[in-house]
Amino acid sequence: MPALFVGHGSPMNTLEDNRCTAAWRRLGQALPRPSAILVISAHWYVPGTAVTAMETPRTIHDFQGFPQALFDFRYPAPGSPALAERVRQMLSPLAVTTDDAWGLDHGAWSVLAHLFPEADVPVVQLSIDRRQPPPFHYETGKRLAALRDEGVLILGSGNVVHNLGLLRWDAPDAAYDWALRFELAVKERLLRRDPGGLVEWEKLDPQARRAVPTPEHYLPLLYGIATQKEGEAVSFPVEGIEMGSLSMLSVCIGAC
Ligand code: ZN
Repeated sequence: MPALFVGHGSPMNTLEDNRCTAAWRRLGQALPRPSAILVISAHWYVPGTAVTAMETPRTIHDFQGFPQALFDFRYPAPGSPALAERVRQMLSPLAVTTDDAWGLDHGAWSVLAHLFPEADVPVVQLSIDRRQPPPFHYETGKRLAALRDEGVLILGSGNVVHNLGLLRWDAPDAAYDWALRFELAVKERLLRRDPGGLVEWEKLDPQARRAVPTPEHYLPLLYGIATQKEGEAVSFPVEGIEMGSLSMLSVCIGAC
């Protein structure tokens, strides 16, 4: 099973047909059918590592100021208590909380709505421990790599460049120089298989702090790439900057 990182962008992508969502749909059709999906979303960034273990995760509308149609959207995929338990075992002795309160946030469902529109594959979310440095997230991803051999799709959801404060709402195709440079630097490190360079993302560019003002949208990338095997292919189903400071880069590890 390949591992994916998807740049999710605006929650409105859930309802839109655009170049990104069309690519996500193609990707979903090209993938082998997973036994389950483990999502690492930028929007579950909390003090601690937790895994959702409910049978029927709720659709969380974790945003404001969007049309009612988005609040009406539901992604009714089942959960998988068995996968949650497997993840806890694999990460032991790290303390992983069994969570019955979260569900699926829009980092997960805005993308899954296109990858698996039937919502018939069980989905579990793993939180990102906000107290931990980048190497922790890479190492955690590594310990989950065997899930791929069990047919589980590991799906990181964030944005490699994500600066909402500098978004140019008036210019959908705009791209700041530093945003382009940072996305390119990430792609170069991925192609030459330099995970250390990706873990130390602050050194990727003199203006890396503009591209990644807070780490939660970048860190999901590290979980997917940590599962890469020797000689395994990397491809980019979606690339490019939108609205100045948002990278829509998606990364596939393995055959997509
Ligand atoms: Zn987001």
